[in-house]
Amino acid sequence: MLAGLKRGSHHRRSIKLLFALLCASGTVAADPGLLPQRLTEVQETIRINPQRGLTMLHELAPKEKGAPAAEYAEFLSLSCIAHYRVGDNDRAMPLCEQALALARQSGDQRAIAKALLAKAYALFAINEMGQSHQLVWEAEKLAASSPDLDLRLRATISSGESYAEDGNFPTALSKMQAAATLARQSGNPLYTVMALNSLAYLYNQMREHAKAFETLDEAYRAAEQLDSPGRLAILKTTDYGVAIDSGHVQRGLNALQAALELSRRANADSMIATTYVNLSDFYLKQRDYKNALASAQQALEQSRRIKNEPTMATARVNIGQAYLAMGRLAEGKMSIEEGMAWYEKSGHMPDLQIVLTEYGDALERAGDLAGAVQAYHRERTLSNELFEKRRQKAMVELQEKYEADKRQRQIELLRQENQVKSTEIDNRRLQQRVWWLLALVFALSAVIVYFLYRKVRQANAQLEEKNLELKQQSARDPLTALYNRRHFQEFMRGHQEIAQRGAGKDANEEMVSALYLLDVDHFKHINDTYGHGAGDAVLREISDALREILRETDMIVRWGGEEFLAFLPSVPRSSLDDVARRLLSGIPARSIDYQGTKLSVNVSIGFAPFPLAPGGKSMSWERAVNLVDMALYLAKGHGRNRAYGVQGFAGDTRMSMEEIEQDIEAAWRAGSVELSVVQGNWQELRAVS
Ligand code: GH3
Ligand code: MG
Ligand code: MG
Repeated sequence: MLAGLKRGSHHRRSIKLLFALLCASGTVAADPGLLPQRLTEVQETIRINPQRGLTMLHELAPKEKGAPAAEYAEFLSLSCIAHYRVGDNDRAMPLCEQALALARQSGDQRAIAKALLAKAYALFAINEMGQSHQLVWEAEKLAASSPDLDLRLRATISSGESYAEDGNFPTALSKMQAAATLARQSGNPLYTVMALNSLAYLYNQMREHAKAFETLDEAYRAAEQLDSPGRLAILKTTDYGVAIDSGHVQRGLNALQAALELSRRANADSMIATTYVNLSDFYLKQRDYKNALASAQQALEQSRRIKNEPTMATARVNIGQAYLAMGRLAEGKMSIEEGMAWYEKSGHMPDLQIVLTEYGDALERAGDLAGAVQAYHRERTLSNELFEKRRQKAMVELQEKYEADKRQRQIELLRQENQVKSTEIDNRRLQQRVWWLLALVFALSAVIVYFLYRKVRQANAQLEEKNLELKQQSARDPLTALYNRRHFQEFMRGHQEIAQRGAGKDANEEMVSALYLLDVDHFKHINDTYGHGAGDAVLREISDALREILRETDMIVRWGGEEFLAFLPSVPRSSLDDVARRLLSGIPARSIDYQGTKLSVNVSIGFAPFPLAPGGKSMSWERAVNLVDMALYLAKGHGRNRAYGVQGFAGDTRMSMEEIEQDIEAAWRAGSVELSVVQGNWQELRAVS
């Protein structure tokens, strides 16, 4: 178990160094035309020989300070990468912070993405994996829409590496394959070498060794088109990792030796140093302690020369292990303690823990049981501390996540509350609208009903008017506007009592009703001489005369063609003849003007008081009118322009009423009926004829 742990830990430590080399792979690529050519060169130099890269950056600094914000931010990002690559993490981080702040200020997405990636690499170098991954993925999102192929490729590769670190190999693989496709399509062999190297490394992590070798073969072919020993050295280092993990010991050694040779050719000092570390690791695993010591000493010398402290620390630990294995306990302990001091100082606690375990094992094997126990206790203490730290960190993270969830829930609750409120408001609004609509409908209905009602009333009024008109029309004669015969009949039927009671007495006089029937004399002559129109005019003139002569309470009726009937409801019995006289003179007194000729007419009249009660028995109005007609006939027969009035009947009448009605003249002569005769004015008659 201990041996297994030892092998694994050695390997892990060397691979971690290897990974630090790979991590900045994107920064080497050229930015065609966007940054000055010099900056592009610096990028590739930093990748292979960061020490020289730093020198170049120092030379560029005065010019870059005057550059636009976005470009200067990229310069700072490169400076950050160069510093962490030479192991100067203390200087690297502030440069990255500055680069990111400046890039954000400039708003340039490309510069922001590059600064994020640089900071992610620097964070990786100080073991801040979680934060490093987050920044890489943030950069990847920004780079995805960028036209800068180099940036896109670099971000995709770094994203794949981060997913692999996170243990998410399926996603890591899809990212890396996408990067490989993008690189192959670009036609740039440098991009292909970069992407395939990372893909091979990933396949190795996934224990797909055959695929890893296959991928490396393709990478070597692409590298043939590049004159870059540095790039080849990187491929060889990956080759070494795959070979060792798949049990191809000799291939591993060959690859490392090739990497050493290539690094030397590329003057890549830090790569030479790390390759020596890897070599010492290899020999330790092979229990070839002499070569392990030699390689580790070379690594120490090389890294001391370039002041690369992490590599120096690892070299010291390896030297110590070799010494311990060779039985040189004091030297071994001293070297390991020195190496561990740097791990402790720089906070590389997980590495320190691994070293302590290895240290204990080595001391045990060397027979220093007390030292082994001591190392074991230190390892336990550190392990507990780390565990406690991790536990606390996990607690904090859990707490943060809980708080975040709580906030999210509160936000959701508020959102739902708002939704309920806005729904309520909507409902209220809807309700209001419905009420308004109802009110409107009601108001409209009221208006409509009002108008309909008014129309009905108007129609009713019109109807009433029309009815009245109709009634009048049916009651009146159209030519003279006097009552017609039918109206009189209806009137008499409705007032039958008049026929029974008479008009009563007024003071000292007997009041009676009376009937007068008039017929125009020789009217035919007017029509024949002057025409029907003249006749009509004369008839109208007569009706006017009648209205004038008689009272308003008297009923005047157009009885027939040129016959008029007047019913006087209340008149003194002694005035009956006077009325006849006024009619006889009043009508001819009126004349009409017809084409220069004055036309006037006489009338003949029959009249009687009403009711008539021969023998005390009152007769009907029809018979009374008939009797008056007989009297008129008498007037005609006796020369016209006169009135004959029935005064009364003899008390002991020898003739029956029927006989009197048959021949009134005979009855008169017989003394059965008393008549009065009123003469018209002859002079006026003469004027007409
Ligand atoms: P008499 O003195 O015997 O009454 O003679 P007369 O011509 O008046 O009597 P007759 O009965 O022979 O003629 C009446 C005429 O009145 C006949 C008719 O043409 C005319 N007449 C009836 N009604 C109207 C009317 O409304 N307008 C006019 N212009 N003539 C009418
Ligand atoms: Mg007549
Ligand atoms: Mg007549």
